[in-house]
Amino acid sequence: MLKPLTRTAACLLAAATVLGLAACAAMNTEDAATVLRRADTAMGGATVKTLRYAGTGTGTTFGQAWQPGQAWPRITYSSYSRVLDYDNAAFREDAARSRAEVNGGGGVPLMGSGEQRTSVWLRGNLAWNMAGTTASPAQLAADGRIHDLWTSPHGAIKAAIRNQGTVAIRNAARGETGIAFTEPGRFSATVWINAGNLVERIDSRLPHPVMGDIDVMTTYSDYKDFGGVKFPTRIRQSQGGFPVLDLQVSEVQANVPAGIDVPANVVGATERVTAEPAAPGVWFMAGGSHNSVAIEMRDHLMVVESPLYDGRALPMLEQARKLAPGKEIRYVINSHHHFDHSGGLRTAASQGITLVTSEVARPYFEATLANPNRISPDAFEKSGRTAVITGVEGKRVFSDGGRNVEVYYIEGSVHSQGFMMVYLPAEKLLIEADAYTPGPPNSPAPAVANANQVNLAENIARLKLDVDRILPLHGRMTSMRELNTMIGK
Ligand SMILES: [Zn+2]
Repeated sequence: MLKPLTRTAACLLAAATVLGLAACAAMNTEDAATVLRRADTAMGGATVKTLRYAGTGTGTTFGQAWQPGQAWPRITYSSYSRVLDYDNAAFREDAARSRAEVNGGGGVPLMGSGEQRTSVWLRGNLAWNMAGTTASPAQLAADGRIHDLWTSPHGAIKAAIRNQGTVAIRNAARGETGIAFTEPGRFSATVWINAGNLVERIDSRLPHPVMGDIDVMTTYSDYKDFGGVKFPTRIRQSQGGFPVLDLQVSEVQANVPAGIDVPANVVGATERVTAEPAAPGVWFMAGGSHNSVAIEMRDHLMVVESPLYDGRALPMLEQARKLAPGKEIRYVINSHHHFDHSGGLRTAASQGITLVTSEVARPYFEATLANPNRISPDAFEKSGRTAVITGVEGKRVFSDGGRNVEVYYIEGSVHSQGFMMVYLPAEKLLIEADAYTPGPPNSPAPAVANANQVNLAENIARLKLDVDRILPLHGRMTSMRELNTMIGK
């Protein structure tokens, strides 16, 4: 009943003019295929096999808010380009970005410390990142890149045709038709086609390791003709309720050679989880971009950090159990709420493991872990469980009568609020994420000390922790001595 009523209401609005009535009648009889074909013709889509666009603008580091629930930290793009290869379902994005605000994470150099170049790729179901000529698998990013390829202006038309999109809603007064389609297991979308037969907005939803299903809104405006291909010169996007992109497009080229080939080391790549003893009953689990630490207690195991997504967290948790056969993992400690570090919390919750996070982040995770996750159900959704989350307020000690595991806030960090580190007093081990990621061994100290590293050392001093070795959650095992060298102490 809802659809006819909506249409009637829209047509009543359109009845204000004779022309509007005629348009209304035509719209109401058109099926989605007709609307999509007309848009494809208007936008010059039939001839577009590949498309490159470039420009400048602003963006944000999605999932890297300083405080849980805040907007994503702002960045500036001095250059930004994408190559879309529709025939090969391939995608490439190259950008130069710098921070536009002090606080928050995201791997962007600290404020005033210059630009960072990124190069991210997709072909078919495989995603990877390039640094120079080195490719690193980035399978976690595949869903987002597939989404971005098939919600581009021409891509959305092609995807809606391929997936037999249907008319979801018409607004005759505005001359708009919303066509809904689903890219199975990847995302669902409603493409809004305006009176000029151009894609003007896409409302979409895709699975996310922290947020369950996440809403995205993309608007395309200020279309121009680029050699017979119509393309927007302004692209705005929000994700998870906050802006992620506002791009001014200055260049568009259709049918340039894309040259997006999957590097050999990306084909068949699997998550590798290594386990190196750091002390009796303490293992440093590395092998990928994010580390975890397993700690054996008298009758259970604790794991510090369950990062990224099921694809990493499942083999990591399995590896942890092998280290202490017969002992169940009772707790996973989460260093902070940034999505890369918290993407495996749902995985842990799917196994009935209690999640330990800051009181700053606990309400946020209680909300996000209750979100639906229907498009591509993950381990947590399939488990049917409810997450058990316990908070830390400044300091908390876990003890089994033998070993003490102390959890502390890293106060005053520009990286994150509710930022936590873990200290093992008997072993003089410190576990921390993002505050200090060691560079190559024997690197010289930088001319200006890194503010996050200085802040970490200040917190260690404030709490009078006697740290010998540091187990960072990125990179190799290191030492307090090396941290001191890096900050000129
Ligand atoms: Zn972070």
